[in-house]
Amino acid sequence: MKRALLLLIPLWLLMCILTFSCAGPNQPDDNIYVTNVMVTKWYNIHEGAISITHDYGPVNSDQSQAVLIEVLDRGLTIDYEFLSAPQHIWNSKATFINEFCIPNNVQFFGHGHLHNDHDALSYDEVVTSFSLCKGVMESLGLKVVAAAYPFGRGHEEETRLGLAAAGFLSGRRHHPGDRTDPYILANEESVPEDWFALPTLVMQDINFNNLETAVNDTEELIPFLDETLAKNAWLITTYHAIGHTDSTYGFYTMDNFISDLEEIKARDFWVASMNDVTLYIYERNLAVISDSILIGPNGVEEIQIRVEDDLDDTLFSQPLTIELDVPEEWVGANIEIISDTTETRQVHPNHTKLYFNTIPNGEITRLVKVDVANKDITNNL
Ligand SMILES: [Zn+2]
Repeated sequence: MKRALLLLIPLWLLMCILTFSCAGPNQPDDNIYVTNVMVTKWYNIHEGAISITHDYGPVNSDQSQAVLIEVLDRGLTIDYEFLSAPQHIWNSKATFINEFCIPNNVQFFGHGHLHNDHDALSYDEVVTSFSLCKGVMESLGLKVVAAAYPFGRGHEEETRLGLAAAGFLSGRRHHPGDRTDPYILANEESVPEDWFALPTLVMQDINFNNLETAVNDTEELIPFLDETLAKNAWLITTYHAIGHTDSTYGFYTMDNFISDLEEIKARDFWVASMNDVTLYIYERNLAVISDSILIGPNGVEEIQIRVEDDLDDTLFSQPLTIELDVPEEWVGANIEIISDTTETRQVHPNHTKLYFNTIPNGEITRLVKVDVANKDITNNL
């Protein structure tokens, strides 16, 4: 009986396919091109993503500025922690944040109000701590998305829920003794296992406290970089006190940091803040893509694509990379991309696929074969 039932299932499926493909109003016309559109896993079709983070308070110290210069000179980016107390510290940072960090896209992750163990706080105290932090970050014009727990103490569910209730979208852990699985969104995963317990690789010189489970130098980092790309995953590296050779907590040498940057740059990574990668994943998962195809005497003339995630556009403004199949008659043709978004976008007409970037705010992007576009412009004048 069971076997008979199993045999019936494929037959039933086949009936459905035949019903929809050969008859009725859904019958596709030979001339109608059906697009295959999707959001690529990572921005600009990179193989993997990486966020380099510096869990080290004074972003405006001489030492930090030396770090920032090495990062920015290579076209990369690094995140800094943000603690909202005491006030005189962030007041002293405000000018530097405004004049240097924001224009150079150096972003921050929330780190609470005080640098204390948030697992030891009540749920309400955790909410208060991260809410204060969020408020000060917003007042300085910073993007508030990602956070990390002071001392990595986000082990309690109450702490994680408190961080979420304060309005952050992701939380990074810190486990110097664990580097077994730092890969986020490996392979087919589309949502992290726990948005508020993201793993990280702890970068720490062996001379700090002989901790071999931390990543001690570039040579040890390389296999993790390669594995991240092999899994099309997202890796977060956490540094403390880069360039300090004294006993500052968790220090890491500048020489190794620079060679880490070189190894990252040599690979196909989307190097982005935890904020931007978090936003990309949220938007990608909620993006609804609709398309309409304009057909002329020579086949497909224009494809209009609308991408909408139904999220608040003031925060969720990370562009997504859209991939679509190129109609046969477009292979080798010049394609013009027309939309109101001022974000840069890229087209890679590699014979079968076409890519462009757009913010998922409901805007329609028009992809037009150039000769058709010229005709439209003339008609409108
Ligand atoms: Zn910290």
